[in-house]
Amino acid sequence: MTSHYRREAVARPVPNCPICGTQAREVQTKYGLRNSCCGLWSWDRHDLVDAGTHKARNDAHASFDRIWKSRLMPRGDAYKALAEELNLTRDQCHMKLMDRETALRVPVAVAAIIERSRRNEA
Ligand SMILES: [Zn+2]
Repeated sequence: MTSHYRREAVARPVPNCPICGTQAREVQTKYGLRNSCCGLWSWDRHDLVDAGTHKARNDAHASFDRIWKSRLMPRGDAYKALAEELNLTRDQCHMKLMDRETALRVPVAVAAIIERSRRNEA
C-alpha cells in the first residue's frame, strides 16, 4: 500500500499554489514529500489545502476509524459504506482527497453507518 502511494506521488507534478500561482516548495521529510506555499500545504504532491481542511480531514479520519475499530465491520466495508453515505465512488472516498466541506460531512455519515449497523444486528 505504502509503496503504491509513493509511486503515485512521484508520477504527479509538483502542485501549484492556488493563492499565488507559483510552484509549491517541496521538502522531503521522514513522513514523505511535503509541499507548501502561502500557508497552505499538502503531502505527496496532492493539492495544497489550508489548515481548516487538514483539520477537517483529521477529524473525519478519527471519526471514521471508530467504525472499524469498534469491530462493527472490516475496514474495507467501512470505506464502502462511507462512500455510499457521501455519494462518492470508492476511489474518491479517501480523507486525503476530500475538500473541507466533504470532510465535515464524515462524522454525520459515520454516525448514520454505526446506527444502521447496530439496528441490523439487533
Ligand atoms: Zn503561494
